[in-house]
Amino acid sequence: MSNLLEGKTALVLGVANRWSLAHAIAEAFRREGAKLILTYQGDRQKLTVEELGAALGAARVLNCDVTNDEDLDRLTAALEEEGHVDTMVHSIAFANREDLARPFVETSRAGYLLAQEVSSYSLVAVARVVAPMMKEGGSIMTLTYLGATRVVTNYNVMGVAKAALESSVRYLAADLGPENIRVNAISAGPVKTLAAAGIGGFSSILGVVREKAPLRRAIETSEVGDTAAFLLSHAGRGITGEVIMVDAGYHIIGM
Ligand code: NAD
Repeated sequence: MSNLLEGKTALVLGVANRWSLAHAIAEAFRREGAKLILTYQGDRQKLTVEELGAALGAARVLNCDVTNDEDLDRLTAALEEEGHVDTMVHSIAFANREDLARPFVETSRAGYLLAQEVSSYSLVAVARVVAPMMKEGGSIMTLTYLGATRVVTNYNVMGVAKAALESSVRYLAADLGPENIRVNAISAGPVKTLAAAGIGGFSSILGVVREKAPLRRAIETSEVGDTAAFLLSHAGRGITGEVIMVDAGYHIIGM
């Protein structure tokens, strides 16, 4: 691929470090000629994400905790200065560690709501911020996982949040389609990231994928980045409301 995204401005939420899926997506966007705006979650991540942003040639690096309406207002103001954006990547999820460890039936009300707020509702909140900036249409995407539709050990409350996220993708696609704004999810196979570290037995999940997936391997983050670049590019113009599996084919296997 070369310069598929020339002239496009991309807002990418969810870079925590160089292993983040959002970082691989930002790298692919940059390689294809897009202008990058990155966000980070609070002061703890500021320095790291500013350094990564500088290495990627990002035009802006902004603070945005998606549970904070003032941060979302500041994001709106920054995007208004920018004039327009062509894509927003939502690569954000959170659940309490204990809710990823104990049986799902024991999930607390607070833990359930927290996972939904950060991992699912935030897509709706940020879509509302960016849609008016997509004056010539655009592409919104989020990251999901097989645990939305199948029971995966220790995924628990996050699986339920991902199910809501995937449904939100379809409702947003229907709402925003008349504005030529497409909304899709990329369902990534397991990758060792900070978020994945919260899931008990993650290494054995990776082992099963390597053994059973049709491609007999786990995925590389660059494969998620390339799929995101395709979705944003002219080549992806007919796709909306979709969950695209980037998992070395693991999801087709029954036993
Ligand atoms: P990561 O830890 O690098 O990224 C998660 C990001 O969510 C971090 O940048 C974190 O700061 C951000 N975040 C959490 N709460 C936030 C808040 N309140 N406001 C703003 N940002 C917040 O891990 P990752 O694996 O790259 O995760 C990115 C997305 O990919 C998540 O939605 C995750 O569920 C999804 N995903 C990951 C895998 C995997 O195996 N790693 C597989 C499929 C889907």
